[in-house]
Amino acid sequence: MSDKSAILVLFSGGQDSTVCLAWALSRFARVETVGFDYGQRHKSELAARPRILEKLRADFPDWTGRLGADHLLPLDILKVIGGSALTDDIKIEMGENGLPTSFVPGRNLMFLTAAAALGYRRGIGELVGGMCETDFSGYPDCRDETVQATARALSLGLARPVTVHTPLMWIDKAATWRMAEQLGGKALVDLIVEESVTCYQGDRSHRHDWGYGCGQCPACELRAAGYARYRAP
Ligand code: ZN
Repeated sequence: MSDKSAILVLFSGGQDSTVCLAWALSRFARVETVGFDYGQRHKSELAARPRILEKLRADFPDWTGRLGADHLLPLDILKVIGGSALTDDIKIEMGENGLPTSFVPGRNLMFLTAAAALGYRRGIGELVGGMCETDFSGYPDCRDETVQATARALSLGLARPVTVHTPLMWIDKAATWRMAEQLGGKALVDLIVEESVTCYQGDRSHRHDWGYGCGQCPACELRAAGYARYRAP
């Protein structure tokens, strides 16, 4: 059966999933992480994962003993299906379907399914992910209803309870920065600024006060605006 003191974090190496990882480390005794290589065009987010894990182990002694195995799973079926600005050379803009071309159909559904299957083998039924309804994009697989319906389907299909925690679901990016500060102080905010990658272009060459990124793509704009509101007096 599942260990209720253990949790598996969907950890991409971005800002949101790093905050979710800190959230898990502050609440659960055993924390494991899982990332997905789905053929994303830019690998700098995946490259950030081991750096962030190493710094968390080194600089947050309360959390060191809790942080367990890290897993990286291939989900290249998403790249094979293609058609998204995140997997193919396609301009990021609003599509005819009313969603940005960065939408990867089925992505969070597959992530949750793969994470729950891994959790089954690891004796973990608690998952946490950075899905957020207040996100600008309106991705339908980030909605609370989608996530909780998926958790219900997984609980039925695995015949074991699967709980999906989404601590960022109802907060905006400024509140996400505040949550980071509450969980890990300035050290965690600095770690996220320095190491996490949100940029859709995977840019690590331009440094802003909110971290690295192209500064132009919707993900950078959202991160920058949230940071500015967080730092505003
Ligand atoms: Zn960018």
